Order: sequence, then structure tokens, then C-alpha cells
Amino acid sequence: MTECNQADRDGMPRLGRAIALLCALVLGLGFAAPALADPGDDGGLDLNRYSKWTRPLQGVVVALDPGHNGGNFGDLRAISQRVSDGRGGFTTCDTLGTSTMDGYTEHELAYDVAQVLTERLEYLGATVLSTRTDDHSIGPCVDVRGRFAEDNDVDILLSLHASSNQDRTRSGFHVAVADPALSPSQDGPSRQLAEAVVEGMGAAGLQPHPGLDDAIAERSDLATLNFARRPAVQVELGEMQNPADAELMTSAQGRLAYAEALAEGVLLWHEGLDAGRN
Ligand SMILES: [Zn+2]
Repeated sequence: MTECNQADRDGMPRLGRAIALLCALVLGLGFAAPALADPGDDGGLDLNRYSKWTRPLQGVVVALDPGHNGGNFGDLRAISQRVSDGRGGFTTCDTLGTSTMDGYTEHELAYDVAQVLTERLEYLGATVLSTRTDDHSIGPCVDVRGRFAEDNDVDILLSLHASSNQDRTRSGFHVAVADPALSPSQDGPSRQLAEAVVEGMGAAGLQPHPGLDDAIAERSDLATLNFARRPAVQVELGEMQNPADAELMTSAQGRLAYAEALAEGVLLWHEGLDAGRN
């Protein structure tokens, strides 16, 4: 970028014009270098197989849905209102979510990871939308979160959550899909997205939940997924009551690891999409 400005100031000598033309071509093609540092430089997952001059997720629109919200604690009546579960029944607008033993909440974790993940996905060229843009409001309700995908015509939706289990020895992540499928997007496309996210998290060294063969849970009771009409998964990042998982969740480096693992999953999903088209 410095070279572009230099060419302007120097009154366009021959070399300046050549540089300006090159800059114009690069910028015109949308390959401008993003402002973020290379993710591989800070000790995280190596995404360097993609040069920062190429943006592999250019044109991809990703919806992030950080689960729950900080304001839910202050208005139990609002989040307890009944909304459709997407399968002919009812569920509550939202819930409080869980927390670590030390009180780090699920809504904080989901929001914090979403912020880092947004940076990473945008670095890779994606457009990122979020179902909530702060961590102190109420909701939105789970049906609205699911409808967000179609309402905003996104390519995929990642709903970010974490689990808790009374058995504190249980640890690891898993990924949920809507099952039985209510729409074509909930069938193969959501399953392919889930498999890519599981692969991405595994590649980052995160441990899958041992209670599931492929770390994928088939769920009929998650309204967010039931209402999604785009490929959608709910990622349970880990078990918040487990000491090892909690240690990862409560450190900035740990949340960076989650974010980069999820970004890797989105890249793998996109690569699979391209492979399928060829
Ligand atoms: Zn949750």
C-alpha cells in the first residue's frame, strides 16, 4: 500500500505508473491484504497453506450464533416465554446456559470465541454476521436465531455453545445436527458441515467427546437448528465442568485455539464444496 501512495506523490514516473497499475489490478480483484497479522505467526493453528494474498472464503457468508446472552439472567420471564420448537411443539425463548466451576459463563465463552472467530474468518475473506452483537442483552429467542440463516441468506450457520455434565471427568467437544431433517439443508449439507468442523477441531488437537462415535450428535430438540434453512450445526466446544476443558476456555490462548479450529472447519467445508463441484 505504501508503494501505491509513493507512486501518486512522485507524479507517476514510469515505474510509479507500473506500480499503480499493479495496485489497481490487485485492489480491483479484491485481493487486498487484510489488516490482521498472519494467524500462523501467533502460535495458533497454521492456516498458512493460504497466502494472505488469496482469500479462500471470499464470497462466503457465515452466520455465527453465540449461544445464550448475558442479559438473560436479569429477565427470566422474557427468556421463559414459549416459542415454537420447529417441530410442532414448544420450547423456551432461551436459557441461562452453563458455566465453569469458577463462574465463567457459557454466554461469555460463546461471545468471546465468536469475536476471535469473526476476525479469523474475515481474514480468510468471509463475510461474517452474528445473531447477537453484544453480551448483555436478552435473547434473541432460539427460533429467531435459527431463522437468521435464511433471513440473511447466509451460506452456513455455526451456533456456539458448551455443555455441562455432572460427571466432571467427561470432556471434549461435539457437534450437533438437526435430526430427523426438516429441510434439504438439514440433511446432507448440515452433516457435511458437521464433519468438516469435527475434522477441523481434531486437526487443532482438540479432543472429541468419547461418548459419540464420530463426535456428531443427532438432535431433534434444538430449535435453532430446527429453524435453520441453511447448513447449520451447533458446536458444543467442550464440557465446562471439566477442569481441563475449563482451563482451555478461560484462557485467551485457549479461546484462540477454539476459534482457529472452527475457522479450519469452515475452510475444510468450503474445500469439500469446491471438490464436489469439480
Ligand atoms: Zn448452550
